[in-house]
Amino acid sequence: MKNWKKSAIFLLLLLTLTGCAAGMLPGFDRLSVEPEPPARPTAPAQPAGEDAAQTPPAEPEGPAGPEEPAEPEQPAEDPAVTAAREAALAEARALADGCSYDEALALLADPAVANGETEALAAEIAAEQAALVPYDGPVRHIFFHSLIVDPARAFDGGASSEGYDMWMTTRDEFVAMLPLLEARGYMLVDYEDLIQRNDDGTISPATLLLPPGRMPLVLSVDDVCYYDYMAGDGFATRLVVDADGRVATEVDGQVTRDGDVVPILDDYVAAHPGFSYRGARGILAVTGYEGVFGYRITHSEGQALVDAKAGAAAVSEALRASGWRIASHSYTHNSYFQDGSVTMDELRSDTDRWRTRLEPVIGATNLYISPFGMHLPFSDERFDYLLSQGYDVYCPVSMAQGMTWSDRAVIHERFNLDGYTMRNRQEEIAAWFFDPSAVYDPARPTPLP
Ligand SMILES: [Zn+2]
Repeated sequence: MKNWKKSAIFLLLLLTLTGCAAGMLPGFDRLSVEPEPPARPTAPAQPAGEDAAQTPPAEPEGPAGPEEPAEPEQPAEDPAVTAAREAALAEARALADGCSYDEALALLADPAVANGETEALAAEIAAEQAALVPYDGPVRHIFFHSLIVDPARAFDGGASSEGYDMWMTTRDEFVAMLPLLEARGYMLVDYEDLIQRNDDGTISPATLLLPPGRMPLVLSVDDVCYYDYMAGDGFATRLVVDADGRVATEVDGQVTRDGDVVPILDDYVAAHPGFSYRGARGILAVTGYEGVFGYRITHSEGQALVDAKAGAAAVSEALRASGWRIASHSYTHNSYFQDGSVTMDELRSDTDRWRTRLEPVIGATNLYISPFGMHLPFSDERFDYLLSQGYDVYCPVSMAQGMTWSDRAVIHERFNLDGYTMRNRQEEIAAWFFDPSAVYDPARPTPLP
């Protein structure tokens, strides 16, 4: 900044002294000398129409100023350096918005791009980092199911229409929720930033430092399997990895970026890095009885099985690399989870199947998102069993959205944002998140009361 200001003052002085001469130079535009910001110190003195890359800036002829004109770093910076700096400034700003302060400062400290501008942004970011406060409010966890992409097909009066209207969220609703959640102050957060893992193997709540006014938010999506019963009802049919290595959706045979939560949220965070704490995304909770992510890895054969496994593995890898987590949602989603009657043997058998049939393809997880939102207390032997299998984050469903800790595990209650809650819990949703009437899809068969 200092160097740039000096340069600008010098140029102004020079132009004042040589105003007439400068005015006579063909194409010389005095208005292009801006006393206020940015940017490239070389720009103002550049005769219009000339190639900045090859021509050193022309000095207007006339009496020389009192100062030595040449600033060493001033003229004709290599455009590649300028471009690298612009990129570093933008990336550092985005990283800091997402609370990755050290990474942002490291980028700006690179001597290859450092100048007054990078110094100024580094100072701004360091001040933001110094202003962080420990978060001590409630940690909320919202969840969805696969999004309804085509309400006309989902709500066509078929056998599943009523269920979709209760327990699903439409794409338009989800898209409308994101800026409202961000405006309320929420930032997506990963459980590993909420959990402190101690040397003795115990866990305890971590101290989460956030910008003043910001709040952590965990987001999950259940049953990301694209079950057979949903086929033809206006949902995506599977997740895929696109040509750029990003997770996309397949809808009616076309690869899209707005067919479900994953690409929509990825794109939103790319444009709004402040909505994600250190790159966090969400959690995809999967069962296994019809495979995962739209790949029928548990009941295919031959080459179809090989292809399905390769597809699911590629999606899992790309998800994990981009900040997503995968959770077990049980293998069977059997109704004995619904009434909580699942026995130890049934739970063992179910968990074994997830671990032997899914884990080799999509990887292990410490997250258990209970089917039907089933609750288990820490004292339950079935809870101990899940803990022994490596699941130390257990997420049932409750309006209370409580987060309770033992020294080995955490239970975090989730809240569904779907047709049912938007119709029946309007006040609570408005108090916690946003006004449901601002997002409620008029294509739903049931109007908002
Ligand atoms: Zn489920």
